[in-house]
Parts: sequence; C-alpha cells; structure tokens
Amino acid sequence: MPARLLNGAATAAAIRSELLPQVRAFASQAGRAPALDIVLVGHDPASEIYVRNKHRAGSEAGLLVTIHKLPESSTAAEVLSLVERLNASAACDGILVQSPLPSGISKADAQRVFDAIHPDKDVDAFHPQNVGLLVQGRPVFAPCTPSGVMELLARENIAMAGKRAVIIGRSEIVGKPMALLLLQRDATVTICHSRTANLPGVAREGDILVAAVGRAGFVRPEFVKPGAVVVDVGINRLTDRAMAAEFFGDPSARLADFDRKGSLVVGDVHPSVADVAGALTPVPGGVGPLTIAMLLKNTLMAARRREQ
Ligand code: NAD
Repeated sequence: MPARLLNGAATAAAIRSELLPQVRAFASQAGRAPALDIVLVGHDPASEIYVRNKHRAGSEAGLLVTIHKLPESSTAAEVLSLVERLNASAACDGILVQSPLPSGISKADAQRVFDAIHPDKDVDAFHPQNVGLLVQGRPVFAPCTPSGVMELLARENIAMAGKRAVIIGRSEIVGKPMALLLLQRDATVTICHSRTANLPGVAREGDILVAAVGRAGFVRPEFVKPGAVVVDVGINRLTDRAMAAEFFGDPSARLADFDRKGSLVVGDVHPSVADVAGALTPVPGGVGPLTIAMLLKNTLMAARRREQ
C-alpha cells in the first residue's frame, strides 16, 4: 500500500491561520506589527526565492517584513555592521541572515555574522546561546526546519515516545537540532552522516526516518523499515532528464513537468520509498512551507518577549 502523504503545506497553512489573530492581538496591544528583518547578501537564486517566500508569507500573516539587500561584494564587516544596527533597533524583533553568504565571505567570518545576531532576535536559533538552551531541553527559539517537522509529526498524531528515530545528516541547522527535538519527545535517536557504516541498515532501524542530506533520491527503499514515517527535508534541483525519468517513470506527469521547466525540485527520498513507508512528506509541499510558518511563529514570540 503506498505511504500516506503528510501534507506539510496544509499544516503550514493551519499554523499561519492560527497566527493571524495572535499577530492582530499583539499589534493592537503594542501599537505595531511584529517586525522581521531579513538580510540578503548577493544574488544566490535559491536564496532570492526563499527570501521572497518569507516576505510574502510574513506580510500575509500581518508581520512587518523588511528585506535588506547587500551587494555580492560585501565584506563581513559590512554585513556585521548591518546586523549590529538591527540589534540596536527598537523597531526590529527578529533578524534573519539568509544563508549561505557569498563565497567571498569566509566560513569563519560567516560564523561571526550569525553569532553577532542578538539571541533575543535570533529567530533562526543559530546563536550559541539558543543552541545551548536547546541542548539543555529549555529552548527559547528552536531552528525553524526541525521545529516545523516536530509540529507536523505532532499534528499528524505520530507517536515519538519510545520510538527509534534515525536522522541522516548532522548539520547545525537541520540534523543536530532535529535529533535534540526528537530526544525531548522521548524518541531513541541515532544521527547518521557521511562516515556512518552500513547506513541503509542503520536507517532501516528507524520508526521515524528523517533525511537531511542534500542529495536527490539518496534514500532508497532498502533504507526504510516497512511502515516507517519518512520525513524528507531535502530540497534538490534535478536537471538531468534521465534521472528524472528514473525517478518518476516515463511517461509520467512529473517528467512532463520536467520537460516543460527543464528542471524539477526533488527531495532526498526516492519516490519508490512510497511503496515501503507508512507515511511520507512530499517535496515540494512538505517540510519547506513548515519552515516558513515556524519562522513567523518565532518572530511573533520574539516580539512578545521584547514587549514584556
Ligand atoms: P548540509 O550540507 O549542511 O548537511 C548535509 C549532511 O548530510 C551532512 O551532515 C553530511 O554528513 C550528510 N551527508 C552528506 N553526504 C552523505 C552521505 N553520502 N551519507 C550520509 N550522510 C551524508 O545540509 P543541510 O543544510 O542540513 O540541508 C540538507 C538538505 O535539506 C538540503 O537539501 C537542503 O536544501 C535542505 N533543507 C531544506 C530546508 C527546508 O525548509 N525544507 C531547510 C534547510 C535545508
């Protein structure tokens, strides 16, 4: 039986509509809308799309979203000075520096930029203070993508306590915080990565399997315990027609879509996993919209905390 689809887009829409009256209530009490400031450096095409989507969703939810565009050639000092200005601004509740920063800014300098965001305005929850609080099980802000996954699992009534959860990927923004959030819900958690031995075998132990690798179709049916809940965090652009045909079949609606557009956005989970999994998030329309909804939620929380 094909896996039940976990509709992240619908859950995200529900979260956003729950936020609307809360944002209105905040605005009428505080006399201003919760304000999110997004810093976009350079012209990374994916980043431009993500920022546009965040701006639209935030504005629709009643937030005041301001995008600060800096040129590709910006130095770390210039980005830092904007962050410092936003830290000091009474009109700003949440700061998001869109990742990745241009290649001209070293990894160490990029880290300095993210570390410079004031923890109280750190709606992406990358600041070491917020990471530390998350590790200790008392988060103020949790990173948007993994907390969106947790909302989806909770709202879909997926049991976590006592279950084996396997996460593929150990990044700071997805894999690690995902593991911590699942641990807080009493799952028994394993993190896999590029050096994990017998990855398919370890992944197959998961009642819940989260893929955050960044490789199209990486997770195949042999990685999946029959009936498992599979969460596909990956966002990958497929540009190879032969691969698209292998993914979706020839002929198929998605392949026709590929032929029209010349590329397709796909996840880390191969479509054939739907024959083994019990439930599965689609890409697109799964985790992506939830990430944005959680960003809005974090911004409202930051605004409320600042008004208290
Ligand atoms: P990342 O590159 O920082 O981390 C990838 C992780 O995958 C690493 O920890 C690495 O150890 C692991 N990995 C790489 N190759 C592997 C292999 N062969 N075997 C096992 N593990 C391997 O990526 P990230 O920022 O965590 O993002 C992961 C994916 O999720 C990307 O496709 C990204 O675009 C997507 N993403 C989606 C959202 C969303 O809102 N849906 C948000 C953030 C990231």
